[in-house]
Amino acid sequence: MLTDAPPRTSYLTGFRESDRITTLDLPGDARLSDIAKAIESAMKSDQTANVRRACAEFLKFASEFYHVPDCGVRVLAARPLRVREQWTTELFGDYAPKAMLIRVWMRTAVRKDVTSYGTFLSTLCHEFCHHLDYKKFGFADSWHTRGFYERAAVLYHHARGTPQKHLFWAPMSGGRWRIDWPRTNRSTP
Ligand SMILES: [Zn+2]
Repeated sequence: MLTDAPPRTSYLTGFRESDRITTLDLPGDARLSDIAKAIESAMKSDQTANVRRACAEFLKFASEFYHVPDCGVRVLAARPLRVREQWTTELFGDYAPKAMLIRVWMRTAVRKDVTSYGTFLSTLCHEFCHHLDYKKFGFADSWHTRGFYERAAVLYHHARGTPQKHLFWAPMSGGRWRIDWPRTNRSTP
């Protein structure tokens, strides 16, 4: 995971704020992880309609918890070949801020590899954090800062029911950062 380079514009203030916010409030109950388990079993039995339903429920509950408008979700069988320019696109998902729509796909475009449950859930949390950036934090853009990845990881580990990790970062050129995985993994019991 690699952060975006800081913008050289008036967006720099928002970028720095995004970088600083490294945590998220979390629901005090296990509702999100219960829904995440429903996503997992629907994926195992290859029931796309149920995956979609569980994803929608996940996002609805999370949106209510964070007091943001609900966002739409499309679960696609495979990554679309053409990806729209204004979308922030990851390997397994994207988010359109104006439409408030998340898309996640269950297979990669070219090799048709099946997305693992962990990657799928992580992508869903990642895209939802883009939604939070606009609707909860009010950022003008949703950058991949260190804070962004930390927030997405906090949500993911809560939903997955796995221990939170302390992320260690290594500086790269151009003001970017990458996660130092060996160090991060060593420090997690
Ligand atoms: Zn992203």
